[in-house]
Amino acid sequence: MTAQTASVRLDLRQDVALLTAALIDINSVSANEKELADAVEHALRKIPQLTVVRDGDSIIARTALGRPERVILAGHLDTVPLPTTEGALGTVPSFWPSGAPGEGLLYGRGTTDMKGGVAVQLALAATMFDGGAEPGKDVTFVFYDHEEVEAVKSGLGRLVRNHGGLLDGDFAILLEPTHGTVEGGCNGTMRFEATTIGEAAHSARAWMGSNAIHAAAPILARLAAYEPATINVDGLDYRESLNAVKINGGTAGNVIPDRCVVEINYRFAPDKTPDQAEAHVRELLDGFDVVKTDSAAGARPGLNHPAAASFVAAVGAEPKPKYGWTDVARFSELGIPAVNFGPGDPLLAHKDNEHVDADAVRECLRALRTWLAN
Ligand SMILES: [Zn+2]
Repeated sequence: MTAQTASVRLDLRQDVALLTAALIDINSVSANEKELADAVEHALRKIPQLTVVRDGDSIIARTALGRPERVILAGHLDTVPLPTTEGALGTVPSFWPSGAPGEGLLYGRGTTDMKGGVAVQLALAATMFDGGAEPGKDVTFVFYDHEEVEAVKSGLGRLVRNHGGLLDGDFAILLEPTHGTVEGGCNGTMRFEATTIGEAAHSARAWMGSNAIHAAAPILARLAAYEPATINVDGLDYRESLNAVKINGGTAGNVIPDRCVVEINYRFAPDKTPDQAEAHVRELLDGFDVVKTDSAAGARPGLNHPAAASFVAAVGAEPKPKYGWTDVARFSELGIPAVNFGPGDPLLAHKDNEHVDADAVRECLRALRTWLAN
């Protein structure tokens, strides 16, 4: 045996549902993306119209057609860990319950999140010049590592730092699962800790102390009474939420607690900057010791941009707002409007029975191919 292992070769021209299965068969749990990234890079380098740049386990592949518009098609290569349930359908390798590869449902880790979307990107890259065709837009394909882990490890964040110029564009599509509809922008998210301080005492002589948990009651009351807004941004309705998500206080069953911390999460519509969102929460909890612990800006859907509008028209389904935070926000920070559009049910992401319909992957490819050609 030599140290060098034979690397996997991907056939980007096979049926896109079968290509999805081939991608699933390469384990790429976060921090183990190398084998898949190698296979993707190798396949992309064979397409003469693309300039390919590799950074760690991320890859950027760009056309240079001199078109007035450039679109970015992005997807992450990593998945969450393999299913925990023994015998779960979502195991590696991929599995076709129909018994006929390419027909019906495909099970396996990453089917929805998001190897179906990555397969669509790769199939487009390989076939968009077929028969001398030239896409009507310049295209940048982005494949990146470490999406399913802490934001500091994000391959996309690293690409922005190391190759920001290669990520310029007029419009970005993230091929995360959306059931084939366009999901625009995303809500922002922010976390706070609200702390109350009391004075410890034996609970048999409670009057000698002061109860920090009781002192937190008005914080909870204000949060419980708060009515979250629904805010229209660029034509889509973003539903906000503001909740206590954790509470911590007390040291023993016979001690008056001297400290209580309420953790609060605010999911705010993309009409607000993080500063405005923070001010809103501070106003609501005026009088309390509130510390911000985490923050990520939202992203406007940008559906009024011509490239976005033509894409929505080509897909044909009514666009929806995205509530969860996604990497569209990173493009938004770069000033690039971005939407999510990909095959598969987002509610199945990370589940042991994760699966995708072969036809949904084909349909996503068809919609993007038609739009890019014009
Ligand atoms: Zn994902």
